[in-house]
Amino acid sequence: MTGTAKKATRDWQSLDAQHYLHPFTDFHDLGRKGSRIITRAEGVYIHDSDGRRILDGMAGLWCVNLGYGRRDLAEVAYRQLLELPYYNSFFQCSHPPAIELADLLAELSPGDFQHVFFTGSGSEANDTQIRLIRRYWTLMGEPERMTIIARKNAYHGSTIAGASLGGMGPMHEQTVLTVPGIAHIDQPYHFKLGGDLDPDEFGLQQARLLEEKILELGPEKVAAFFAEPVQGAGGVIIPPDTYWPEIQRICDEYGILLVADEVITAFGRLGHWFGSEHFGIRPDLISFAKGVSSGYLPLGGALVGKRVADVITAKGGEFAHGYTYSGHPACCAVALAALRAMQDEHIIEYVRDDLAPYFNARWAALADHPIIGEARSVGMVGAIEIVRDKSTRARFDEDLGAGTRCRDLSVDGGLVMRAVGDTMIVSPPLVADHGHIDELVDKAWQSLDRTAASLA
Ligand code: PLP
Repeated sequence: MTGTAKKATRDWQSLDAQHYLHPFTDFHDLGRKGSRIITRAEGVYIHDSDGRRILDGMAGLWCVNLGYGRRDLAEVAYRQLLELPYYNSFFQCSHPPAIELADLLAELSPGDFQHVFFTGSGSEANDTQIRLIRRYWTLMGEPERMTIIARKNAYHGSTIAGASLGGMGPMHEQTVLTVPGIAHIDQPYHFKLGGDLDPDEFGLQQARLLEEKILELGPEKVAAFFAEPVQGAGGVIIPPDTYWPEIQRICDEYGILLVADEVITAFGRLGHWFGSEHFGIRPDLISFAKGVSSGYLPLGGALVGKRVADVITAKGGEFAHGYTYSGHPACCAVALAALRAMQDEHIIEYVRDDLAPYFNARWAALADHPIIGEARSVGMVGAIEIVRDKSTRARFDEDLGAGTRCRDLSVDGGLVMRAVGDTMIVSPPLVADHGHIDELVDKAWQSLDRTAASLA
């Protein structure tokens, strides 16, 4: 352990419960069960303060795509911190790491993206998009085009604007989210909402909700549609094949901007540099974060396509927006090294041609488990739906907390899976091998066995 003295787990837990206000954590649980204290990590494994080695099926929070313990990335950070630890890019200043990273992102991105605005996180990236969208329409002489349509159960971050844009029930319930001009439509979640409809029919039906909403609001008032190619935090909601082409048609027909929130789906997660490529989406704006630096240092950003960039740069003059850490030199240097490592190590090709097909086939077999109603995956994200009755898709009583039970049993058994209600999700590091996938699926099955036994 570096920088901190070693303590017994219970001492860490007690200090933690006294002082640390955790994100997305029930404070009663912190007091009762204590946190799991993670002390170090290497490759695809994390280690806790009790010496347990745990396969990280979530790559941290969908971000440690290159796995833990890469000395090359740590050394790049160290060298950059000595050379230029900080300088801003406000007021006509710049520095080599941010310039080089912007150049590489322009090269890797699909379609016509030549510009990037850096942020410190995915939430800030989405706030930036809202600013860009509204600036664009104002400069276009259509300031009444204010409303952004997003989706229920979407996650676009935790700032007020990100949470307003997102469609997470508890976030809206806990805070009066006041960003005006945001509307939500339902999601393409076939397992939950599709009933007996064929997935393709359902995909079209859910996409057409966008058209209905545009017509309801008035097409001249709608600025943009904002969506994750695959809803991640909402439970790995993979849209049917018909969904995105119809969404694209509708955006084109009404001339509204299409924003792909690729905070999870970019940088190899779906076997492409950007998840939009997998679905044939042609976004005008792309949000990214997480995998850009493999989570080693915080970085996010907004990729700005030609349609918007031309207007913002040619007509706009100063864009009154920016963060102290926009384009932080060390974060940019690490991201640059992470993306170059992905290129040199052919990670995209490995995921697309080898790892993801293997993972998809093995993950699908979890559908045979007696308490699983559906197993779905795309690229390197997967979900399984815990049910009491496979034929009717009936869930366990909510009070039983089947999902959190399964999550805790899984971590005790040596695998991090995340619970979204009774949907278990994974997003393993992209450097996993077949042996790791076997271990992940075997441990997931065992966790389900234990969950079923505890619910019997
Ligand atoms: N957008 C999506 C799709 C995300 O999954 C997340 C985080 O999980 C965010 C935005 C917010 O990113 P951050 O936590 O870096 O602010």
